[in-house]
Amino acid sequence: MTLTTEKAFSLSDRVKEKFHSTFADSKPLIVRSPGRVNLIGEHTDYNHGFVLPAAINKAIYMAVSRRSDDQLHIVSVDLDRTYKGSIHTIEPSGMHWPDYILGVIQQLQGLGHPLGGLNCVFGGDIPLGAGMSSSAALECATAFALNELFGLGLDQMTMVKLSQKAENAFVGVQCGIMDQFASMFGKKNHVIRLDCQSLDYTYVPFNTEGIRIVLLDTNVKHSLASSEYNTRRQQCEAGVKLIQAHHPEVKSLRDATLDMLASYVAPVDALVNQRCEYVVEEISRLMAATDDLEKGDIAAFGQKMFATHDGLSRKYEVSCPELDFLVDQVRNEPSVIGARMMGGGFGGCTINLVREDAIDTLVEKIAPIYRKAMKKDMKVYIGQIENGTSLGE
Ligand code: ADP
Ligand code: MG
Repeated sequence: MTLTTEKAFSLSDRVKEKFHSTFADSKPLIVRSPGRVNLIGEHTDYNHGFVLPAAINKAIYMAVSRRSDDQLHIVSVDLDRTYKGSIHTIEPSGMHWPDYILGVIQQLQGLGHPLGGLNCVFGGDIPLGAGMSSSAALECATAFALNELFGLGLDQMTMVKLSQKAENAFVGVQCGIMDQFASMFGKKNHVIRLDCQSLDYTYVPFNTEGIRIVLLDTNVKHSLASSEYNTRRQQCEAGVKLIQAHHPEVKSLRDATLDMLASYVAPVDALVNQRCEYVVEEISRLMAATDDLEKGDIAAFGQKMFATHDGLSRKYEVSCPELDFLVDQVRNEPSVIGARMMGGGFGGCTINLVREDAIDTLVEKIAPIYRKAMKKDMKVYIGQIENGTSLGE
């Protein structure tokens, strides 16, 4: 606990220090915006199902102040780079990292909000590209900071949507809404059950006393990821089409049942049926998993994480040997409550719920076995559930 607070404090201090040494004149506004994990509900978002994310105690800290001219001065502390431009000519920077900020500025301008010049310094401790959505955290930090700074009066959902649009339209990544949503709406000791169809959400209590969220990073990203992702989306759509011939009211796999799959999809295309089965099962598994949490039955919840992994690995076939290996290693560890691969698949991290006092021993045991079997090192990130985007100190 103490460690976490001290670390967060020093991160924010680092950003503030850089701000003051770069822009001596003003006292900045500080915003903190976290990364996220997704406990259960994988590949359900584009099928209009549910997801169960939570914000974590790894975040972007951003210090901003207004300028009297129309200039943008943006400093990345972690990359030790500066971007300079004008608020009136927002176009891709050619440097990549400023685009997450510029994209949000462009969205705000598109909504008719005139913004002025800006001094901005930011940095964080969300590992980049490890599946904890540092990009969404950066966008949400920007939206939140500019909303405060220029008194725009935007609500959180509007900021979430424009952050997602910034990533889609300006950065060019076709992400769903979960990442920005979780970063903005996160709540300490809760997971969020988000309905990806209606965007309704409920907070579900998640008492993690004595438990930590441990991410084991395989350190691989197989090139199959994006082509297979597109294939899975097509297979899901193909399943829906087959059902629609008999049940026109079914608009997505969200509305489908296993009986419908057995009657109308299985006889036509066994592989499409297998993919769709995973999705329909995962959506109902998530519902049952939130019931487990409501009842405080974390053990049952953990078992469902393992079931999700098995579905993703065997039915949806988006895992890889490294992810399967890491989940298999912890399957029979009494200190591990649940584990599964997290994210789109073919690499990235596994998410594990682990008893706090056993983490060191577990990592010491698995790291050398992983190195020996996979000929590469795994990385370890330890987190806990925190509040969403907020003003910092
Ligand atoms: P993820 O969102 O899974 O972490 P992405 O590839 O979507 O991975 O986003 C990572 C990108 O976001 C980085 O390459 C960088 O451009 C930007 N970014 C995120 N965090 C920071 C940071 N602390 N400093 C600079 N750029 C960052
Ligand atoms: Mg991202």
